[in-house]
Amino acid sequence: MAKLKLERLYKVYDGRVKAVNDLSLEINHQDFIVFVGPSGCGKSTTLRMIAGLEEITSGKLYIDDVLVNEMPPKDRDIAMVFQSYALYPHKTVYENMAFGLRMAGLKDNEIKERIYKASDILELTPYLTRKPKALSGGQKQRVALGRSIVREPKVFLLDEPLSNLDAKLRVQMRSEITKLHRRLGTTFIYVTHDQVEAMTMGNRIVVIKDGYMQQIDSPTNLYDHPDNVFVATFLGTPQMNIYNGVLKKINDNYYLVFKDNDDIKVNLSTLIVKKIISEKYIGKEVIFGIRPEDVTETNTQDALRMVVEIIEKRGSELIVYGVLENTDLPVTAKLDGRRVIVEGDVINVKFDEERLHLFDKDSEKRIAEVITYNYLPATFESEHKKITLLSKKLELNSKDFDSILPEYKTKKAIIGIKIPTDAFSLVSDENHTIKVKGIVKSVEEDKESTLIFFEYAKNKPYLSAKLPVGNYKVEDVIELYLNTDVIELFDETFNEKLTALHPITSNITKCIVKNKNGKSVAKFGSFSLQLDEEYEEGEYMLMIPYDSFEIVHDRKEEVKGRLMKFKCVNESSQGNSTILYANLKEFPDYISIKAGKDDTCFTKGKLTFNIKKVILTK
Ligand code: ADP
Repeated sequence: MAKLKLERLYKVYDGRVKAVNDLSLEINHQDFIVFVGPSGCGKSTTLRMIAGLEEITSGKLYIDDVLVNEMPPKDRDIAMVFQSYALYPHKTVYENMAFGLRMAGLKDNEIKERIYKASDILELTPYLTRKPKALSGGQKQRVALGRSIVREPKVFLLDEPLSNLDAKLRVQMRSEITKLHRRLGTTFIYVTHDQVEAMTMGNRIVVIKDGYMQQIDSPTNLYDHPDNVFVATFLGTPQMNIYNGVLKKINDNYYLVFKDNDDIKVNLSTLIVKKIISEKYIGKEVIFGIRPEDVTETNTQDALRMVVEIIEKRGSELIVYGVLENTDLPVTAKLDGRRVIVEGDVINVKFDEERLHLFDKDSEKRIAEVITYNYLPATFESEHKKITLLSKKLELNSKDFDSILPEYKTKKAIIGIKIPTDAFSLVSDENHTIKVKGIVKSVEEDKESTLIFFEYAKNKPYLSAKLPVGNYKVEDVIELYLNTDVIELFDETFNEKLTALHPITSNITKCIVKNKNGKSVAKFGSFSLQLDEEYEEGEYMLMIPYDSFEIVHDRKEEVKGRLMKFKCVNESSQGNSTILYANLKEFPDYISIKAGKDDTCFTKGKLTFNIKKVILTK
């Protein structure tokens, strides 16, 4: 048995390159997890932290509930297979596999038994006496796998193991590794930049970009319900067609019109619109996407006219590249391989209205077809520490309230709430306390669960809940209980989290004001800041708002008289910003600082800040 838990993992190289950012993830026993993303996104670094080959900058890593941050690699019971097989050239296949076991002090007959078992699984038995140079690439890779298997580890880590192989062998090895996973029944974590490999091998896939996890989901969900434009375009070949457009409602029907070509419109199904969380998108600019296979030929009146520019015959399918007539809007369609089309033809196509993907124009996050999360608006009343959600008032506990960013605490604000679909339960218990009633509108069956969409209020978007497999029927009335502990608060565009890791403090301290040459300076401990106005000399309270710190990356940017230099000790990713925390003896509480997305507290030394604004009170 092996399950892993990654809790807010960070890896920062040289105090500035954030290779892995606030990664939290639970990996279950027997999972086949794939990390996928472009080169340099932090996949290998994550894998190497799990293996113990790379120090964890911050966060916790558990294997079977044991904290292993400090545990040496050899004690972690993990085997790692790399892209290069690194076999001993002068040793036979048998000896290559036996070497590690001998080092571990296993007896000869035990070694033999394990090797024969592994070589049987890998179909390597006939080659046990050969040396690596007499093996094909695929066979060498199997020996590398065999060397790991004989160790009988709890977890297998595979770092792009197939990238040295030719195309045909890769396909073959892919299915061999999948079979191997099934036979061994252990946990596999596999790293690749190849989306086809990810989609065909993993039971769950983690998509990473620039060190940030974008989405974790089953291959089907990732493909059908990508969380953002990046995931949508990263997975699938040819890539999803993406457009800017406006969502319109005309006589109770919904359409998308293309930006700058608003005479061309695409029908949008009411069911999809009902799954959109906010009516606020109607009339607004959005990003929409359609996969090439969902662009189909049609002879209906409202067809789109596509001018064919390039065709690509792929045997069973025909890929057609072109533009919409009289525009420069590119379209890619995947049609039946037997269809005869030539370059220059104009064909009539339609976008399948049930298969359109909608994204927010600014955050590029999905705004329709909620699968893992429901995003819905709520009202936040700071004065009463309450949130009105689904017409019910939720009281925030003090810790949650204190963690809300200051700019949201000043007003009654409309905020975004992210509710995981699995936050609903059919029964109430100490966590699931809020009753939500609705009418089932759509049911999607999965092997292990059922996803239902339900209407909780007329003219409101549907909510989705992941429930145990059951007999749910459209138009059934359903009563569910919501776990409010797992909801997350977001700013209205869902771009930034509203709460930070720790309470945001007001950064208040006592200071002494001194005047010199008509200028006032506030002194506190080892710091002194020049003030914008002149003050009477004496003792004051000084406040530095958390968004008044500007990190100086280059000495040329330093503002004289307004500098503070200190070390930060913790951070919390918010989306477009990072909150840094510092412990300074001049301040009674630790201080909080709003910094840029790429700024980090994990620097080797002190950070320099320009202080943009200070507030003095008597
Ligand atoms: P991937 O496996 O997704 O291609 P890596 O995990 O190897 O990406 O790298 C993530 C980021 O960390 C990249 O920007 C890379 O340049 C950087 N990086 C990796 N290793 C080091 C290192 N030893 N020192 C400094 N930067 C590194």
